[in-house]
Amino acid sequence: MSAPARPRAAVVVTGSELLTGTIPDANGPWLSRELSALGFEVSHVLVVGDRPGDLAAALEFVRDAALVVTSGGLGPTADDLTGEVVAAFAGVPLELDERMRERIAGILEAWARRTGFGGPALEEANRKQAMVPRGAIALDPVGTAPGLVVRTPGPLVVVLPGPPRELQGMWPAALAAGPVAALLAGIPRAPARHLRFFGLPESEIAATLRTVDVGDVEVTTCLRRSELEVDLRPVPGDEDAADDLAAVLAERHERHLVSMDGRTTDEILAGELLARGWTVATGESCTGGMLASRLVDRAGSSDYVAGGVVAYSNAAKTDLLGVPAELIAAHGAVSPEVARALADGARSRFGADVGVGITGVAGPGGGTEAKPVGYVCFCVTTADGRVIARDPRLPGSRSDVRERSTDLAMHLLLRAVRG
Ligand code: ATP
Ligand code: MG
Repeated sequence: MSAPARPRAAVVVTGSELLTGTIPDANGPWLSRELSALGFEVSHVLVVGDRPGDLAAALEFVRDAALVVTSGGLGPTADDLTGEVVAAFAGVPLELDERMRERIAGILEAWARRTGFGGPALEEANRKQAMVPRGAIALDPVGTAPGLVVRTPGPLVVVLPGPPRELQGMWPAALAAGPVAALLAGIPRAPARHLRFFGLPESEIAATLRTVDVGDVEVTTCLRRSELEVDLRPVPGDEDAADDLAAVLAERHERHLVSMDGRTTDEILAGELLARGWTVATGESCTGGMLASRLVDRAGSSDYVAGGVVAYSNAAKTDLLGVPAELIAAHGAVSPEVARALADGARSRFGADVGVGITGVAGPGGGTEAKPVGYVCFCVTTADGRVIARDPRLPGSRSDVRERSTDLAMHLLLRAVRG
């Protein structure tokens, strides 16, 4: 049985500042995730400069897609040419959309009152932004530029503004526009299953997959935040195949399984802490607050994060977290003993239920034979007497070591809380 094809979608991101590396592209990845979740197979994400010829060539390149989404180049300046190029691609002229001109005028008037800029320059900008390819649907501006939904002899083209806030704000209206909604309605729905493992190399999953019948399930793996994410996308109507495969993978690698429903470690940890009414405190050295930052990333974290101390110097460890100077002298600042004292110190100073201590050699200098670069000591202690300690040697650069330390600490914390 061969899988019914999912419709293909492509993203064309414009902006010379993206090609020079001045700013990273936020829209391509965001749109890919959205389109994939809607059931499209994303065939390409192309980034082109603000040159009409290059944009036209990019549109030609993805002509086979069912849907093309562009970002950027909708503004009032001379390098904003997306509307023109898409109109030419569709083979239709640009026309002034009087309703849109008035709408934009209203937005610009308010802006001119606030900023004091105005006059003929603004009138010209207004006119330019209200030019719409004949037959296209104009989407109301989130900033000042309207978006477009343009039927062409090839793909349906959705034209969105460049600023990520505006693009994301306009997305629901783009999906609701008639031709886009009609396209979406025809996509067979077969949501992917998401498995998440920690401490499991990709090669292990690959080995397991060689021993089972994967059938038509599309398997993709991705290593992120020290976790292996495995997505299983079934063929519509054959969801059981993905469920069966998920069960096999989960069972074979049970020891490393974090979740089978897409939940992240951070979400699960937050839930476990809340369920117990526990708070957590951190005493961090080499991670310099990265763990505390990760813990407070989630909205509502004040319900379970008490606080943290970045105790980088020996004096800070002693003065702020009560790590005995003799302990540091006897074992060294990077030692399981000091990690334990940091965890206990953080817990008691903050009156928390769980304490985490991290101290390590992030490198690139400072390593010794006994304590090489990447050697990091972790300890998690709880008020009811649980202690989890590890002292692995983590690979990679300084930033790798610090990031992996944060990831590992999250997992040790989760393990300690679950008991
Ligand atoms: P504007 O009316 O602001 O000119 P526009 O649709 O013409 O809107 P661009 O000129 O392409 O958009 O981009 C405006 C700004 O938005 C850029 O300078 C940049 O700061 C941000 N931006 C645009 N595209 C991206 C992107 N792909 N990723 C991140 N930021 C972007
Ligand atoms: Mg612009």
